[in-house]
Amino acid sequence: MSHEVMEQAKPLGWPPVTQLSALSAVPSGARDAVLKFYFGPMDCGKSTLALQMNYNHGRQGRRGLVLTKHDRSGGPKITSRIGLGLEAIEVEDSLDLVRLVTAHDRIDYLICDEACFYTVEQIEQLADLVDEHGVDVYAFGLASDFRSVMFPAAQRLFELADEVCRLQVEVLCWCGRPGQLNARVVGGSMARTGAQVVIGDTDAAQAVVGDTDAAQVRYQVLCRRHHRAGRLGEGSREPAAQEAARETSELTPAGPERP
Ligand SMILES: [Zn+2]
Repeated sequence: MSHEVMEQAKPLGWPPVTQLSALSAVPSGARDAVLKFYFGPMDCGKSTLALQMNYNHGRQGRRGLVLTKHDRSGGPKITSRIGLGLEAIEVEDSLDLVRLVTAHDRIDYLICDEACFYTVEQIEQLADLVDEHGVDVYAFGLASDFRSVMFPAAQRLFELADEVCRLQVEVLCWCGRPGQLNARVVGGSMARTGAQVVIGDTDAAQAVVGDTDAAQVRYQVLCRRHHRAGRLGEGSREPAAQEAARETSELTPAGPERP
């Protein structure tokens, strides 16, 4: 039932029960909106799932907004490693998410990609949207940074979310164990210190921003054992070799770094 139809139905004086379609405002207590956080290391398919979820909800007639921050494309959109893409709203630090949503006529859900990079205040705003405005929020992101320390926004999501899901799309360390942690590789060796956010990719030879010497930053997913030991394995290569490998991996998707 569309909004317009409901508006017309009201003057006829039918009891509220006729308005209980799947798209109607839900009576308080019947169903609470949810805050869900899906997390996993780089390459585990978070953005792909975010796009799929947006598609599924949209197809059911629900209205949503898609948000991201520091997407690998460098623009205001979500792009997935397997080639999907969608325009999205870039979440600047100053953006008030409650205002953003309430400025729209009706929003049923939010897809928040790269939520680990939002401010803690914005995570609070997401919780407000769930509790005060009945908006379902599906957040996706990394849990921890290159030091294996949790991002403040991810920590707040762990604390507040109704549901937290570790994504099961398996990313493997070079040793074959499940990859859990992101290593920052600067000039061929693993960094232990530096700014928390320096944008790079697992297959990019260059970072986009950052206040360190960002020219040679990339990320590599490791198991806990090898993250703690700082061992990059055979996958560790100099940027020139990475460039060549990236071109090769476009031809052969199942390259050694992306099993
Ligand atoms: Zn390993």
